[in-house]
Amino acid sequence: MRKIQISQPVTGEEEWLAVREPLESGWLTSGPKVRAFEQRFGEIHGVKHAIACTSATTALHLAMAALGIKAGDEVIVPAFTWISTANVVEYMGAKPVFVDIDLSTFNMNPEALKSKITNKTKAIIAVHLFGLCADMDRIKEIAGDIPIVEDAACAAGAQYKGVYAGALGDLGCFSFHPRKSITTGEGGMVTTQNDDYSETIGIMRNHGASISEEQRHHGAQPFILPEFNLLGYNYRMTDLQGAVGCVQIEKLEAFIAKREEWAKFYIENLKDLDWLKTPITPEGSKHGWQSFVCSIDESISQHTRNRLMQILEEKGISTRPGTHAVHMLGYYANKYDISADDFPEAKKANDLSMAIPLHNRMSSEDYEYVVQQLKSI
Ligand SMILES: *Cc1c(COP(=O)(O)O)cnc(C)c1O
Repeated sequence: MRKIQISQPVTGEEEWLAVREPLESGWLTSGPKVRAFEQRFGEIHGVKHAIACTSATTALHLAMAALGIKAGDEVIVPAFTWISTANVVEYMGAKPVFVDIDLSTFNMNPEALKSKITNKTKAIIAVHLFGLCADMDRIKEIAGDIPIVEDAACAAGAQYKGVYAGALGDLGCFSFHPRKSITTGEGGMVTTQNDDYSETIGIMRNHGASISEEQRHHGAQPFILPEFNLLGYNYRMTDLQGAVGCVQIEKLEAFIAKREEWAKFYIENLKDLDWLKTPITPEGSKHGWQSFVCSIDESISQHTRNRLMQILEEKGISTRPGTHAVHMLGYYANKYDISADDFPEAKKANDLSMAIPLHNRMSSEDYEYVVQQLKSI
C-alpha cells in the first residue's frame, strides 16, 4: 500500500558531501560554515543580521532575552501555536498573555489584540503559522511602540506585501527542524535589522562570552579567555549543521515553488468537498507552505475529525492536527486557570484543523491519491 508521510525533508548528494569539510578540518562547532549560512540566509530574507542557533525555541528565547523580558512583564502570544512560543516567555519568568486567532488564517486576530495590551506588555510574538504571515500591518498599528517578535519558525521564504518574514518585526525567529521548509536536522536563526540586538544575541548564544570561539582561536591571544558580562546560554549551531544549511538555503525557493504548485492542485481539486476548507492566502501574501492545513466544517465534532484521520491513516495517508491551542494544555490551563472556551477560535482550530501531506518528496501520484481518497470519504 501507498504510505504518504505528513512531511519528509529532502537532502541529496550535496548535503552529504557538505558535511565532509568540517569533519575533515576538525572545526565542528560554530565557525565558517555557520557564518556562511547566516550571511546567505540574511541576504535572501533582506535583513542586516542573521544569527544562527540551535532551534526556533532557542531563537525565541534569545529574542526575549535581548528585549530584556523579565518577571512581572507580559508578552502577548496567539492561543493557537506551537507550545514553545509561550514557553519562552515562561523561561524569562514573565507571563504569556494569550490572544485569540482568526480561524480563516489560523493567525493572531489583530482586533482581539487591542484589549490584551496593558502597561506591562513588553513584547508581542506574532506567529506566521504554517508559512502564512500574520497581518503585520494591522498588528504593528495596534502595537505602537511595543516590540514585535516574529515566530517565523514555519515561514522561511514567506512574504507579506513584498517583504520577507524575518524582516517584518523587530526580531524574527526561524526553525530548521526536519518538518520545516529547509532543515539542518535541528537548528534556528534570529534575524534583525538592529545592531544592538544582533550583538547581544551573538554573545548570549555563546555562554555570554565577549568574543566567539572562532575569533579567539584565530586571534593573537587564543590562550586568554573572553569576558563574560551577560548571562548566556550554549545555543551554538554546529558547523556540520551550518554546512547543510548552506546547501539547503539555495534550495528554498525551488522547494516553495513546488509546494505552491501542489497546494494549488489541492485547492482546485478539493473545492467541491463542502465539509473541508482548504487554506486561504490573503491578497499580498506569499505563502511559504510549510504545511497544508485544512479545517473541517464546524458542524463536525473533534471526535469525528479524529475518526477521519484514523481512516486516512489506514489508507496510508498521514494527517495531523495543525498544531494545538496552547491555553488548553495542562501547564497553561492549570497555572493561569484558563478554560478552553476563553479563546473559542483557537479551540475550534485545535479541534477541527487537519494537515494533509504536502512536501518535496511526494510524487504526482501521491497527490492524486490523497485527493481521490478524500473525495471517497
Ligand atoms: C516548529 C515551531 C516552533 C519550534 O521550532 P523548533 O526549532 O523545533 O524549536 C516554534 N514555533 C512554531 C510556530 C513552530 O511551528
